[in-house]
This record gives sequence, structure tokens and C-alpha cells, in this order.
Amino acid sequence: MNEPNRAGDEVRRLQKELRKAQREIRHQKDAFEIERAVYQKRIAAQTGSAEAFREQQNYLSLLLRNSPDVIFFFDKFAHLAYASEAFYRMSKIEPLAIEGHHGTDIFALLVDEAWAEGITARFIEAVKRTETISLEEEIDLGHDGRPRKYILTFTPMRDADDVYVGSLLYLSDVTEIEEAREAAEESSLAKSMFLSNMSHEMRTPMNAIIGMTKIAKGSPTAEKKDYCLDKIEDASVHLLGIINDVLDISKIEAGKFELSEEEFNFENMVQRAVSAIHYSIDRKKQTLRVHLGHGIPEYLVGDDQRFSQVILNLLSNAMKFTPEGGRIVLKAVLEKAAGEEEGAPVFLKVSVADTGIGIGEEAKAQLFTSFQQADGGISRKYGGTGLGLAISKNIVETMGGAITIESELGVGSTFAFTVRMKRGRTPERVAPPIPIDLSKVHCLVVDDSEDILEYFTSIGDRYGIRFSGVDGAGGALALLDRGEEYDVYFIDWKMPGMNGAQLTKEIKRRTGSMGVVVMISAYDWHDIEQEATTAGVDKFLKKPLFPSPVVDCINEVLGKAAMAACAAKGEEEGDGGGEYGTIKDGAFSDRRLLLAEDVEINREIVTTLLEPSGIRIDVAENGVEAVEMFAKDPGRYDLVFMDMQMPEMDGLEATERIRAMQDPRAQRVPIVAMTANVFREDVERCLAAGMDDHLGKPLYFEEVVEKLKKYLPKRHGKK
Ligand code: ADP
Repeated sequence: MNEPNRAGDEVRRLQKELRKAQREIRHQKDAFEIERAVYQKRIAAQTGSAEAFREQQNYLSLLLRNSPDVIFFFDKFAHLAYASEAFYRMSKIEPLAIEGHHGTDIFALLVDEAWAEGITARFIEAVKRTETISLEEEIDLGHDGRPRKYILTFTPMRDADDVYVGSLLYLSDVTEIEEAREAAEESSLAKSMFLSNMSHEMRTPMNAIIGMTKIAKGSPTAEKKDYCLDKIEDASVHLLGIINDVLDISKIEAGKFELSEEEFNFENMVQRAVSAIHYSIDRKKQTLRVHLGHGIPEYLVGDDQRFSQVILNLLSNAMKFTPEGGRIVLKAVLEKAAGEEEGAPVFLKVSVADTGIGIGEEAKAQLFTSFQQADGGISRKYGGTGLGLAISKNIVETMGGAITIESELGVGSTFAFTVRMKRGRTPERVAPPIPIDLSKVHCLVVDDSEDILEYFTSIGDRYGIRFSGVDGAGGALALLDRGEEYDVYFIDWKMPGMNGAQLTKEIKRRTGSMGVVVMISAYDWHDIEQEATTAGVDKFLKKPLFPSPVVDCINEVLGKAAMAACAAKGEEEGDGGGEYGTIKDGAFSDRRLLLAEDVEINREIVTTLLEPSGIRIDVAENGVEAVEMFAKDPGRYDLVFMDMQMPEMDGLEATERIRAMQDPRAQRVPIVAMTANVFREDVERCLAAGMDDHLGKPLYFEEVVEKLKKYLPKRHGKK
């Protein structure tokens, strides 16, 4: 081979090598680039997950710090790795004192060692089985003597490779939930007891009504029928009371309980409540005293029906839970009057005290809750629904007051409540206001009850009358023998030693019949009338005594003018003896009533009730008939009794149609609604339709008569 050829080969080889080296470098560079990119990516990925990890850590520690629940982490050797802040806060234990300690030692701090060992054993078992367990325990974490209820949840923890790494213990406080559950259970229990009690309470009078009706039908004699009717009346009144209570409590529970505002005479209201219960009190031979304090305005504005409902409920409880011969005192005092002007707030306190069986401490707190009775056993013995006090509490609180109880088992109870009313008008006294000068009057009271003597003194203080008192006939006669003279002698009927009738005879004899004798007694006047009048008694006052009738009585028996006035009043109001709801036979025989009522038995009741009054009655069986009858002869009717619910046309519409008639008498004629719904809205609807008044069903004789007297005033001259 020649020289130049060899050199050329060498160059080509070198060039080839160079290209190869260049290729190699390029490859290496690419590989490096790739590696760098991968590396960079890896680095980036690593940085990111570290951040995410840090973030996770952060959340976890926030959770543990802020969780209201107690959380423990234990490592695989059951040593405490972590406890949530809540634990340290509640237990007041320092982290250093327990971190790294064995679970059993820590559990021993929660309850005690025995408990700790027991629970550790259960947790070990749970770890073995790899299962979560929950248990309920009472633990006093704060060591303050107020243990709370917790649900403990224990969970063994495993990592991604299913290797056991430790455990989690979670305590959640369920005290409130538990309490709410217990309360709900208790209330549902109380309600079901109430239901069974109620069913008994309602069926009992119903049975009496049905049974007695049957007996009456088959009885040959009028006496026996009367006896049955009395029983039926008692049972019906009782049943009505229960129905009213149930309706009231439903209204309260539905938040629909409202009060009306009307002006009423306070003393009359109390008197009505008392007379509703007095018969039962008499029957149990209990005594009832009524004290009405100074300064209570004569007229108040408020819901008198509800006010008297509370008084009546307390009185009937006192009667019910006080044995025979016991003593009940009803007291009303003026707590505060914010002013003398009409409408100014007046605060009254009313209390009812008895010498009955009393109420135990634990029962007291429950009494005002619906459906609760001091003791189911008691209710079986005494009857009742357990609603009365709950209703009373509601009424009183709606009236801006409160109800309280003081009681001692076997000694007696005092229920007291306050109410806020408004001052009503101050009545104008028509001349002669007080026909005789009361300050010159001197009366002698003879009664073996110190209470009564005190009561007369308090009336005397209020009206400026002088009362002297002695506790028996002996004392009275001794005073007369000393030459003392009195204008009026108030004498108790039943006294130890010489009784009221004998003393009356003696007084009449010694005063030459000049002394006026007023008999005071809890007995019905009719029972003692004959003996009393024979003895010379001039007048009779029924216990419990109220101030106005006592003063009226003095006026009546002493003043001639008063006597005339009272006689006139007596003609209008019956016997003038203060008993309301009486009527003279035939007193309304020149009047005519339009009675619109669709239910036959109700028509019969009204016509029978009103028969003695002599009033003539035309009957319409629905609203349409009533309107037609009235339109035909508007002058014919002096009064309309209008049922609210009637077929074809109801009472509201019939009233509106009558009021819309041209004849002026259609606007004037008094229309009284008869309705079983005596809630405030119903009454307001009646008034809005143009009615003047309302009568609640079932109808009571006294109330019907009251309306007759109110709307059919005595005529002077011809119509
Ligand atoms: P009721 O009398 O219908 O059972 P209340 O709500 O009026 O319902 O009374 C609830 C309970 O309070 C009664 O069952 C009774 O246990 C107790 N109680 C109420 N008043 C008296 C009282 N004057 N003396 C003793 N216990 C009473």
C-alpha cells in the first residue's frame, strides 16, 4: 500500500471515530437531560408530599387540641402516645404526668384500679379480635363529685400492611342526651299513666250517668227518681270539669291560651268561686274562712273567669285533700297598687291554706307539671286528673304572677299566687249611699270561732263600724245584764252550750224585741228557717262571710230608707238576701223570648229552666226560622237567646241579619249567644256579629236568670 492511501484511511477512521464520539456525547447528553428531568420531578414530588404531610399533621393536631371529646392514642405496647387537650383540661392532669404511661395506670386515674384492670382486659381482647368495642360508663373526670355519662369507643389500629400499631380510645359525653331521653321517657310514661287515669276519671261519672238514668226510668216513686237525678247532676258536673280541664291543657300545650279583659267586681267573683265549692266543704264538715284585705279596689279589669278558676281549683284541692272537720282559709290581700287612676296596675296575692294531708318535698317540684300528681296512689284514693295545678300555674303566669306552695306532710298546705290586674272604675254611690251613719252603729258578734270575731273586727275597721265580740251565749248575756245595748246582734247558729236559737230568744226577751238579730251560719237557710224565725231571728247571713253582705245587712236591718231600697232591690233581685240567681215566680210573665236552638233537648232545658219565671217562649229551630220570626213581628220579642251552631244558618249570621233589618227594634233587641265554646275568640265573634252577651253551655239556671234580670229590667209603665 502506498503512503498517501494509508494516510487517507487513517483520516477516514479518525473521522468515523469522531462521529462516533460525537454520537456518544449526544446520547450521554440526552440521558443526562432525562435523568435531570426525572430527578427534578422526583424532587418536586417529594417537596409536595412533605408539604401535604405537614398540612395533615397540622390538621390532626388541631383536631386533637380542639376536640371537645377526650381522645387517647396508645402505642402497640399500650403506652399513652397522645391525649387530646380536652382530657388535660377536664382532668387537670399535666401531660408530663402520664405521657408514656401504661393504659391501665391512666384508666385507674379515671375511675379506680379495679375498673382499670377490668377495662384493660376487655381492650386486650378487642385487640386480639381486631374489633371495635363501645361501652357506657359514668366517670367523674373533673373529680368534682359530678360524674357524667360517657360512651367509650375503643378501636385497635392497623397500618397499610395490616400490622397492629396501637389503639384509639374515644370518650363522648352523652349526659345531656341521656337526660333528655330520660325526661322524654318519663313524660311519655306520665302521659300514658295520665291516659289510663283519665279514662278511669271519665268513665266513672259516665257510668254513674248511664246507670242512674236506667235506675230512674225503672223507679216507681218520684223520690227515687229525684235521688237518681241528683246523682246524675253530680256526675255530669264532675265530667264537665274534666272535659274543661282537658280542653284547657290542650289550649295551653298548643300555645293558644289567651286571657280576656273585662271589668268585674272582685268580691262578687270571689263569692261566686266560694259558693261553687261551699256545698262540698259543708258536706265534709270543714270550715272555710274568707279574708279580703284592705284596699283591694272594688272593680278590677282582667279575666275574672280565669281568676276564679284558679281560686276554685285551689279551694277544691284544699277540700279534697283535707280530712273531715279540717279548716280552710282563703285570703286575698293587696300587694301593691301603682296608682289611684283607672287602668293603673294592681297586684294581688291570694292564698288558700288547709289543714290537710300535705305534700312531701320531692312531690312539690312536680306538682305544677301537667299530668303529675303527688302520688298515683293518692290520685286513686282522691280522684282527679293532675291537670288543675298545671292549668292554674299557666293562668297565673299569663296574668303576670307566680304560684308557690308551702306544705308539710300531715300538717297542711298553703298555695299562694300573685296576679297583676288593672284598677277598674270607682263606682258612683247613688244617694243614699249608706243610709245610716255606720260610725254610730255598735254590733255584738257571738261566735265560738275566734276567726269570725276577728273577721268582723276587720270589716269594722274597713267600714268604720264598731263590733264587739264574745265567744258564747254566756258572754253575750253577761253584757246584756250589765246594761250594754247593741244595734245588731250577729249570732252563730251552732255554738257549744246555749245555741243560736235559744240565745236569740233571750236577747229578744231582754231587749223587749228591740235588738235586731242576724243569724250567721254555714247551714242552708231552709234547713233552719223554721226554728230560727220562731226564735225571732230577723235575718240570715250565710258563711263564709263577705264584707259587703255584712254591711248591706246592717244597712238593711237598721235603716228605714235602706229597707225600702232593699225591698225594691229585693223585688228585682229575688229575696234580697245576697243569694244571686233566684227569681220570683212569674216575674217575667209579661215578656217574650225568642229561643233559636236546633237541639231539642237543649230547647227543653231552657224552657223548663225558665218555666217558673213565667216568660213566654217562641222557638226557632234554626237561624233562618229565627230571622223570619223576628222579621214578621219585631216588637214581639224582648230578648233573643241564639244558639251559635245551627243547621241552615248559624247564630252569627242570623244575628247579623236581624241587626241589618230596618226596624229600630231589630237593633235594640238584646241577643244573647248560647255556645259551648266559651273561648275568648268565640265570645269576641259573638260580640262582633252584634250580640250583646253570651251564655256558656251547659246552661246554669243562675246564669240564665242573671241574663233575664240584666236584659229585662223592671218595667215602669207600659211597654
Ligand atoms: P288533681 O287534683 O286533679 O289530681 P291538681 O293538679 O289540682 O290535680 O293537683 C295535683 C296533685 O297535687 C294532686 O293530685 C295532689 O297529689 C296534690 N295536691 C294539690 N293540692 C293539694 C293540697 N291542698 N293538699 C295536698 N295535696 C295536694
